[in-house]
Amino acid sequence: MERSADIVTYECFVDGQWGPAASGETFDSDDPFTGQVWAKIPRCAAADVDRAVAAANAALTQGEWAEMHPTRRGQLLVRLADILDREADALARTEVRDNGKLYAEMRGQTGYIAQWYRYFGGLADKIEGAVVPIDKPDMFTYTTHVPVGVVAAITPWNSPLLLTAWKLAPALAAGCTVVLKPSEFTSASTLDFCRLIEEAGFPPGVVNAITGFGAEVGAPLTEHRDVHKIAFTGGDASGRHIARAGMGTFKRLTLELGGKSAQLVFPDVDVEAAARGVVSGIFAASGQTCIAGSRVLVHDDIHDEFVEAFLDLARTARVGDPMDPETQVGPVTTKPQFERILSCIAMAREDGADCALGGGPSTRPGTGAGRFIEPTVFTGVTNDMRIAQQEVFGPVLSVIRFTEDEQAYDIANDTDFGLAAGVWTRDQGRMFRAAKRLRAGNIWTNCYRAVSYMVPFGGFKSSGIGRESGQDAIYEYLETKSVWMDYGDGPANPFVLR
Ligand code: NAD
Repeated sequence: MERSADIVTYECFVDGQWGPAASGETFDSDDPFTGQVWAKIPRCAAADVDRAVAAANAALTQGEWAEMHPTRRGQLLVRLADILDREADALARTEVRDNGKLYAEMRGQTGYIAQWYRYFGGLADKIEGAVVPIDKPDMFTYTTHVPVGVVAAITPWNSPLLLTAWKLAPALAAGCTVVLKPSEFTSASTLDFCRLIEEAGFPPGVVNAITGFGAEVGAPLTEHRDVHKIAFTGGDASGRHIARAGMGTFKRLTLELGGKSAQLVFPDVDVEAAARGVVSGIFAASGQTCIAGSRVLVHDDIHDEFVEAFLDLARTARVGDPMDPETQVGPVTTKPQFERILSCIAMAREDGADCALGGGPSTRPGTGAGRFIEPTVFTGVTNDMRIAQQEVFGPVLSVIRFTEDEQAYDIANDTDFGLAAGVWTRDQGRMFRAAKRLRAGNIWTNCYRAVSYMVPFGGFKSSGIGRESGQDAIYEYLETKSVWMDYGDGPANPFVLR
């Protein structure tokens, strides 16, 4: 596919104005397929953080947004959704240019994100408090839900605008203001998206976007006293830093972190169908998804048949240009991630796993100068091996055997993570038992990688804190205020608790 050789220079969006970083510095963003620099991104730092947070705080506390009725906020979100539908294709192309994931995958995402803005736009004026039937005489007591304040929304490189929508839509519906901080590897689509925020008519300062590195922009943002909530998606190591930094000023937190999700294949399955499902869980997006089903637990009775069917499918996966509709496995987004995947493959070999497929960089025709890893399968893996415990975030699958259902649940749960699990069975009893026994936030049965604006998403244990999407997500952006009114003669004894 043709790609323009022109280098695009981007600007940040703060207080409704476009401009460079305070330092005037930029950094390069490259195309993972060609390896060529295609964009220059503002390299922001603490001074830009201060400016963006001040703008967000001003918009929160005074002026049009602070006074805006929730119905009107909802209308702005729905207008944004309509504009997003119009721009979905252009946004998908920018995302592919920046993160190298398949056009089909990114176009599917950008064509779907408008639904988050519509759904939460609809919810904006349905947030009701309660009148408490209070147990005190001559007292009227009610609760109301108010915006938590300024939100720092920090996103990773794998699905930039989808993961932005998961945070921004409920935050704006709740009446918060937001500073977006996209990944340094994929900032472009977030900045393009801010043009649409402008067009939709959100007042200046309600949504701001600053770009740069985690240590230079993310860290001062998470430590800032005027940021009241952090909504973060990324790795668990960064999540740990952010949680500590946020606790310095007791910020509210939503953390969507990594996973080491298991796919359980029971002996009653249609082996071909299960193999197709497991392939989609690991090799789609080149394994660069938090919900990658990177451990497949296969019952002993069908182990060999399943592995054979799986390898047949994986072997023929088409690796190449992510813009080509025929491609099934694209490049790895970042250079550090490429190195990390190779080191995980080496680690699996050291620990004694058998490499049944792939096991290194892909140099097939059509991979050009891109960073490609061959779809890789390790068999003979035991759950105590590092490859079964550490998140790879690449196209690497570990196959583990089991003989009893209870053993499969124990293996699936024996990890620090708890983001997702896949269950492949035609037995209804097993479906329900597995859903009950698996300690993960998202359980898919006879399917995998399905998400919706209506369904809460999040993890147990090191996979995170809080939930995104679904009605409850809006409460992650609201504080409850309790209001007491005495319409009697005041306290009988002012020296005791009423
Ligand atoms: P990352 O943690 O390196 O970076 C994510 C974001 O955090 C980037 O914007 C980065 O600049 C910023 N950041 C890094 N250090 C920071 C710090 N100290 N303070 C503030 N901000 C900081 O993650 P990544 O490599 O971009 O993404 C891959 C990870 O994200 C994987 O572990 C994956 O599992 C996880 N992920 C999780 C979900 C989910 O919903 N659970 C979705 C996608 C990705």
